[in-house]
Amino acid sequence: MLIGSHVNFTNEQLLGSVKQAISYGANAFMFYTGAPQNTIRKDIDVTLTKKAKELMKEEGISIKNVICHAPYIINLANTKDILKWQFSIQFLKQEIKRCQVLGISYIVVHPGSAVGLEKNVALQNIINALNEIIREDEPMILLETMAGKGSECGCTLEEIKTILDGVKSKNIGICIDTCHLNDAGYNMMLFDDLLKEIDSLIGIDKIHCIHLNDSKNPLGSHKDRHENIGLGTIGFATLHAIATHEKLKDVPKILETPYVLKEYPPFKQEIESLKSGNKNPNLIEEIIEYYK
Ligand code: FE
Ligand code: FE
Ligand code: ZN
Repeated sequence: MLIGSHVNFTNEQLLGSVKQAISYGANAFMFYTGAPQNTIRKDIDVTLTKKAKELMKEEGISIKNVICHAPYIINLANTKDILKWQFSIQFLKQEIKRCQVLGISYIVVHPGSAVGLEKNVALQNIINALNEIIREDEPMILLETMAGKGSECGCTLEEIKTILDGVKSKNIGICIDTCHLNDAGYNMMLFDDLLKEIDSLIGIDKIHCIHLNDSKNPLGSHKDRHENIGLGTIGFATLHAIATHEKLKDVPKILETPYVLKEYPPFKQEIESLKSGNKNPNLIEEIIEYYK
């Protein structure tokens, strides 16, 4: 099972991320290259990167299963403030370069929010931006499926397909987020039907990352609030079935579940229960106990 969580890109950069991932028993992980809510970034340190790669080799973590997530403040959909839109494009180009220096293959990007624009205009803006950003020989952008909160684009498979169809390059894929899909109205309990739909519209081979999250809200709520594994409306059995799905066995699954009491990362215990296949009935208590 390729499983991990989002981890911090600390002062030790990728080395810090790897250490954290190992402490959770992960063999995959995802990080932001800095604070997700801003665009202040440090240069990539060559020595730290080299040490990180050595540690990954020792631990059997492949760089293929390391994912970067672009900050969510960039918005490729809205051109009302043209300077902001252009900044988003430039910033994403730099993020891709940083991924390239780190040797990472995939960067997850939220398609963007329309904020007052018509959906089809917003989708076209995203396409235009991506056509400016994507290069064949660079790390691949993965568009994330969204919950449809506010004016988010990419909350239906059709919208994702529209964007992919408009992008000239083939160097683009998708990241499916189980909480977002649930909140967007896709029933995770019928996951095989959903996979068929993804395959016929987009192609299953376009999925290069899965965000494995439970949801605090019911199907179609358009809320986007993640819940710990097994404690939400999707439930343990369904999330475990996705994590162990034969057709997705080479795709890294990344937990973005909430910290317990806003303080304790739940990932070690969640990974353990997903690996064992048994729901941990005392998940929260054990997490608190572990970090106390
Ligand atoms: Fe995301
Ligand atoms: Fe996500
Ligand atoms: Zn989310």
